[in-house]
Amino acid sequence: MSQRVAVVTGASSGIGAASARALAADGWHVVVAARRLDRLEALAAEIGGTALRLDVTDPESVEEFAARVDACHLLVNNAGGALGTTSIAEAKDDEWLRMYEMNVMGTLRVTRALLPQLLASGDGQVITIGSIAAREPYPGGGGYNAAKHAVGALSGVLRKEMIGRPLRVSQIDPGLVETEFSVVRFDGDQDKADKVYAGMTPLVAEDIAETVRWIASRPSHVNIDNVFIMPRDQVSAQVVHRVP
Ligand code: NAP
Repeated sequence: MSQRVAVVTGASSGIGAASARALAADGWHVVVAARRLDRLEALAAEIGGTALRLDVTDPESVEEFAARVDACHLLVNNAGGALGTTSIAEAKDDEWLRMYEMNVMGTLRVTRALLPQLLASGDGQVITIGSIAAREPYPGGGGYNAAKHAVGALSGVLRKEMIGRPLRVSQIDPGLVETEFSVVRFDGDQDKADKVYAGMTPLVAEDIAETVRWIASRPSHVNIDNVFIMPRDQVSAQVVHRVP
């Protein structure tokens, strides 16, 4: 039997890179996609996968990418992130729009573009990385909350629209995971990013990757709709146990 193909977006870092490694270890041929091609090429060489440049905010880039993916059995929609922590009162249109592009429109574009290959596989699967932000609004989370809530809606609608067809749709909503996420959110400010995880034990990218691999390896008749996964030290978006 020929190797099954998984596409992982945002695979140049964090949860995406860890998921690509976990899936490759389970025998998948993984197409790793993001903007930083140098990182992708190193990862593809390590796991025997394929590196392809992809900017999910650029419709042309998504179309070109999808045209190069002949077969796809699994799509992991992971590319995304947060920008800033501004309040609604001080919300910046540009930040909101960029978060919408990266998380919502990006997930829509890539999913829509790869649907033909996923359905043609006869047993397709989409696993989208949402967030606790998709479930719980919190002060300073405005644009990211709105974007991830929309991502949750997209997953739910797609699952309903695809009933009776060979496509499973899952979403994983993590709490705090220590990756480059906070460095990006705080525009490269490492000290600010470190404070997010100070005095507590966050999840690591591999914890989420294990969940991706687990969902992807359920038998075909089983659809894991949603998984909400948190560090033991976190019980809600802003209630975190920290040791001083
Ligand atoms: P990360 O280390 O910053 O990784 C983000 C990935 O997304 C990178 O590979 C980045 O690659 C890619 N990306 C960003 N913009 C992109 C674009 N326009 N086109 C293609 N790829 C793009 O953060 P992470 O924590 O692994 O985040 C992965 C996902 O988990 C995100 O959807 C995030 O919202 C979600 N999440 C994270 C946490 C957390 O606490 N870390 C919690 C809940 C949910 P390039 O820059 O190379 O393009």
